[in-house]
Amino acid sequence: MTSANGPMEKIVSLAKRRGFVFPGSELYGGLANSWDYGPLGVELKNNIKRAWWERFAERRDDMVGLDSGIVLNPRVWEVSGHLSAGFADPLVECKHCHTRFRADQIDVSKPCGNCGAKGAFTEARMFNLMLKTFLGPAEEQANVAYFRPETAQGIFINFKNILDTSRRQLPFGVAQAGKAFRNEITPGNFIFRTREFEQMEIEYFIPPPAREEDWNDYFEEWRKAMREWIREAGIDESRVHEAEIGEGERAHYSRRTIDFEFEYPFGRKELYGLAYRGDFDLRNHFKEPPYRDAQTGEAFWPHVIEPSLGVERTFLAVLLSSYAEDGGRVVLKLPPKLAPYKAAVFPLLSNKPALVAKAREIYDALRARFMVAWDDRGNIGKRYYAQDEIGTPYCITVDFDTLGEEGGADLKDTVTVRRRDTGAQERVRADKLAEFLHAAIYR
Ligand code: ATP
Repeated sequence: MTSANGPMEKIVSLAKRRGFVFPGSELYGGLANSWDYGPLGVELKNNIKRAWWERFAERRDDMVGLDSGIVLNPRVWEVSGHLSAGFADPLVECKHCHTRFRADQIDVSKPCGNCGAKGAFTEARMFNLMLKTFLGPAEEQANVAYFRPETAQGIFINFKNILDTSRRQLPFGVAQAGKAFRNEITPGNFIFRTREFEQMEIEYFIPPPAREEDWNDYFEEWRKAMREWIREAGIDESRVHEAEIGEGERAHYSRRTIDFEFEYPFGRKELYGLAYRGDFDLRNHFKEPPYRDAQTGEAFWPHVIEPSLGVERTFLAVLLSSYAEDGGRVVLKLPPKLAPYKAAVFPLLSNKPALVAKAREIYDALRARFMVAWDDRGNIGKRYYAQDEIGTPYCITVDFDTLGEEGGADLKDTVTVRRRDTGAQERVRADKLAEFLHAAIYR
C-alpha cells in the first residue's frame, strides 16, 4: 500500500491537474479503470511512440513497419491459440461479496482482500481474455469478431506480403504499434493494467537455429537493444530488473521469456517482455514454408524473437523516473525528446506591448518547428515552476535587453534561456534559438 502522498498519488494528481491523464468518461460517472490522455499526455505518449518508431522501424536497415487491423478474421485467433485455454487467467470469486480475483495473484487460503470473509473463494475457472464483438447488424455466432489482444498476429499473417514487397533477407524484423484489448479480470494501479492499451511490438525473424547459441545470440542482442531503449526513455535503470520466466509460467507460444520488471510504487511488475516464440506462429499460419533462402534455395519457416513493450507502462515508468522534488519545486526531468513542450516563451512583463510583440514573434517562429508553450501570467518565478512541473526543458524570456532598451548593444536581440534541471541561465541570440533547441533536444 502506498501512503496518501506517496509517489503514485503525486503522479496521479499531477497527471490530472496538468492535463496528462484524466479518469475515463468522468462526465458520466466514470468507466472503471479507463483513462483519457489530455493535451500534455497525448504529446508525451506520441513522443514515446515516435522515439520507439524512429529507433527501431526507421533507423535500422534490418527493420520495416506495419499497421494492420485491430479486428482480424477470427480464424487468426483460433490458429494463434488465443481462443483456447492458453490465453486465459484463473478466475476466483468471493462467495460472500462476489469480488473477482486472479487466483495467481492472491493467496486463496487467506481471507478475501475485499470483505475479509474466510475460506469463501469459488474453485478457480479459466477465463479467456479476448474482448468479443459482433461485426454487422446481426448478433449471431457467424458475426463474432475479437479485438486483438496483441499486435503481433497482424505481423505474422502479413509475413509473406511484407517479404514479397520489401525483398528482405533474414534476419529482419517488423515493427508495429497500436491498440490492444484484453478483458482483464483485475485491471488497476492507474494506467498500469487496463482493458484497452497500446503496444509497441517487434517480430524479429531469424533462420531456424541449428544450435541453441544461434537464437540465443539474437536474443542477447535484443536484450541489449531493450536496455538502450530504456535509457533513451529516461527510465531509471536501477529500478529495472530482468526476470527469467520459468517453463510452466511462460505464454503458450514461448520457448524463452525474460520480463523486464520495473519497481513501481505498488510492487515490482512487468514493464516489457522479451520472448523467443520459435516458429510457433508462422508454422500455424502458413501450411507451406513462407521463406526461401536465396543462396541455398531451401524453404523453411523462420523463427522469431519478440520484444514487446506497453506504451502506458512506459508512460508511467517515465513519469515515476523523472519526478523530482527540489527545494520546494516539482520537476519532471523528462528527456527533452519526450517532453510535451520543448520550450516556453515568456515576455518579462505582460503589460508592455513591445515586450509582448517581440516575444510573440519568437514564439510564432519556434512554434513552426517545435511544440512551444506561451505564458504571460504572474511573475517569472511562478511561470518557471509551472513549466518545471510538466517537464519543459527550456524557458525563454524576452526582456528589455532583448529590445535594446537596457544593457549594452551586444544584448539586443538576445533572450534568456533557463534550463529546467539546474536553473542555470544563459543569453542566446534570438535568431539562433531554433538551432539551439534542435541541438539540445536531438543531441
Ligand atoms: P501481465 O503479466 O502483466 O498480465 P503479460 O505477460 O500478459 O502481462 P504480454 O502478453 O507479455 O503481457 O504483453 C506485452 C506487453 O504489453 C507487457 O509487457 C505490457 O507492457 C503490455 N500489457 C499487457 N497487458 C496490459 C494491460 N492489461 N494494460 C497495459 N499494458 C499491458
